[in-house]
Amino acid sequence: MKIMKFGGTSVGNPDRLKALIPLINDGQEKIVVLSAMAGTTNSLVEISDLLHADNINEASTKIDELKSKYIKVVEELFSTEKYKESGHELINSHFEYIRNFTLRVFTTLQEKAILAQGELLSTSLFHLLLQERNIKSTLLPALNFMRIDKDGEPDSFYIKENIIRELKNHTPENIIITQGFICRNAYGEIDNLKRGGSDFSASLIGAAIDASEIQIWTDINGIHNNDPRYVENTRVIRELSFDEAAELAYFGAKILHPSSVNPAHEKNIPVWLKNTMEPEDIGTLITSESTREDYKAVAAKDGIAVLRIRSDRMLMAYGFLRKIFEIFEAYKTPIDMITTSEVCVSITIDDCQYLDKIIKDLKELGTVEVEENQTIVCVVGDFRTERTGSAPEIFEALNTIPLKMISYGGSPNSLSLLIDSSNKVEALRLLSKHLFN
Ligand code: ADP
Ligand code: ASP
Ligand code: MG
Repeated sequence: MKIMKFGGTSVGNPDRLKALIPLINDGQEKIVVLSAMAGTTNSLVEISDLLHADNINEASTKIDELKSKYIKVVEELFSTEKYKESGHELINSHFEYIRNFTLRVFTTLQEKAILAQGELLSTSLFHLLLQERNIKSTLLPALNFMRIDKDGEPDSFYIKENIIRELKNHTPENIIITQGFICRNAYGEIDNLKRGGSDFSASLIGAAIDASEIQIWTDINGIHNNDPRYVENTRVIRELSFDEAAELAYFGAKILHPSSVNPAHEKNIPVWLKNTMEPEDIGTLITSESTREDYKAVAAKDGIAVLRIRSDRMLMAYGFLRKIFEIFEAYKTPIDMITTSEVCVSITIDDCQYLDKIIKDLKELGTVEVEENQTIVCVVGDFRTERTGSAPEIFEALNTIPLKMISYGGSPNSLSLLIDSSNKVEALRLLSKHLFN
């Protein structure tokens, strides 16, 4: 069975939704994972922010605005009165549900329930569209099988057991449609896999059912060698290994959710990245094999904080790093990059939720300096330790940009650098110019 995931732009308007039909209706068994229509999750975030701020009037206006968009969608999506009517009923019930949150105390739990409406709407509308076209399909609620544990990590065992049980009840020839992004947490409450999480849903579902392949359909012909939003003349990379793709995704290539490669990698399931606007283009294939190239791609991850811990007690001492790591562990904060010298340790994190508490605890060990608004730039290529000559080209390319940290030798596939976020775009352009052109 194949998994086909369509992102926000691919389901972004009635024409796009209709254009999915020839892509999925090929007689093969598949699970279709849909994101919310482009812009919807952002609007739902704005509505939630207003409700958190107790700004009920503005929240209600935004709810009305979003609802009118969907009313238009229904009018253009369906061609028969019967289905237009069902579409309007569907929209009314979702927006009534959202509006109910303006009447009571608003918590993060309710925010998660609001954010889930985007994927619930897109999948229900698409399911109705297939019914109108007499194409057999089953709507499989992701909330019945997708689940994260107490630490926010996917509960693979639960997901596998439950999706397999759910699939037993469905007619084999039907196209199965389910929601990306949304899940339940360890307490059964509605939650999500974080922004961009539909890719992760597709990969988790693929791994749970041992899919033959996972296709991620988006608005670009696969993974490019640099971020096309900032750099001109980027090129598609046709083949990547799981490790290379995981590194690019983790270090900021927006096309893939940071964790989405791992479940596919564990089960060795090939992942295709394809463009819904140009389905004939072959796209990018991610597998366990890949041809090595000096430089394959560059990505950047913003919102990084660097903490520099200095302590003379560290000199010749052992166990010091353990004490530092324990502090990050206590606050469940992953470390991205680390460099050490005799008396200093520099550490970067991207989750700054507990930054103040972490700094307070680190101060027990030495002096602490913090800089926020940092960016990690990651160059993916051939960085096996026996090779010579690749690092100098990168440093030469970036010789006008202050480098705050360098991580080399941690992975055979990548070299990472820390720079000020204000230098990001320039750094990405310089790297493209020197490494790829
Ligand atoms: P979807 O809504 O389909 O999930 P996303 O917006 O999440 O799509 O991801 C696709 C976008 O990622 C592209 O339009 C592109 O602007 C951006 N992007 C950033 N880095 C890369 C890259 N290295 N290769 C391709 N696209 C990238
Ligand atoms: N709709 C969610 C978001 O916008 C998930 C996704 O599109 O992958 O973040
Ligand atoms: Mg995405």
